[in-house]
Amino acid sequence: MENQSPDHEACCRIATASCLCPVCGNAGRKVAAVTLDHHVSEQFRAAIGNDATFCLNPACEVVYCNPGGFVIRKGQTLLPVTQKDPGDEVLVCYCFEHRRGDLRRDLREKGNTDIPDQIKKGIADGRCDCERKNPQGACCLGNVAAAIKTIKENVKIDAKGSEKSSAL
Ligand SMILES: [Zn+2]
Repeated sequence: MENQSPDHEACCRIATASCLCPVCGNAGRKVAAVTLDHHVSEQFRAAIGNDATFCLNPACEVVYCNPGGFVIRKGQTLLPVTQKDPGDEVLVCYCFEHRRGDLRRDLREKGNTDIPDQIKKGIADGRCDCERKNPQGACCLGNVAAAIKTIKENVKIDAKGSEKSSAL
């Protein structure tokens, strides 16, 4: 987990969670009603209520929980969730619709990606809508950085693996 820098955007601030995840026990991030309205189907919207927490643990399948112990799991939200789903079709930035596969393509073809800069420019222009559009109710830049790091690490492992196999 990255530390919050003091100059962090207001939209990135992690609000104190009202409950721990009943499945993994981690503290999550409190989300607003507007976040739940955008990501939870009508079927679960009343049950989760307005006092809900987003579980930040990638290893846990809970997306939202509330103090009553009601949980909404991976696959039950309207969109796949970056932290919970490693697929390439999954959005890493919900405001400007960048997918994990877009990062992978840039890194493979150019060795780098300007997607974080594109997102920062969008934020600077006031065009982001993280609280509503991102399932965690906050800015995606930390998730994008984490996704880039994971892809780069996997590429390194692949490269090592192929070196090894060519040496054999
Ligand atoms: Zn959890």
